[in-house]
Amino acid sequence: MGRRVADCRDFPSESGCTLTISGEEDEVIVAATHHAMTVHGHEDAEEVRTWLRGNLKDEAPLGA
Ligand SMILES: [Zn+2]
Repeated sequence: MGRRVADCRDFPSESGCTLTISGEEDEVIVAATHHAMTVHGHEDAEEVRTWLRGNLKDEAPLGA
């Protein structure tokens, strides 16, 4: 089962953050929501989760 990726470069932010978080979708959403709220100052966790569910990418297979 492929992992999913949240890439901060896709996230609407003005900080220029380039962090990527990868893992199982549920793990990525938990970690990325925490990151968005602590680092980017987002206050609405549900809004962040909704955005993430629509914007996670499949991790590129290694060695492909
Ligand atoms: Zn970030």
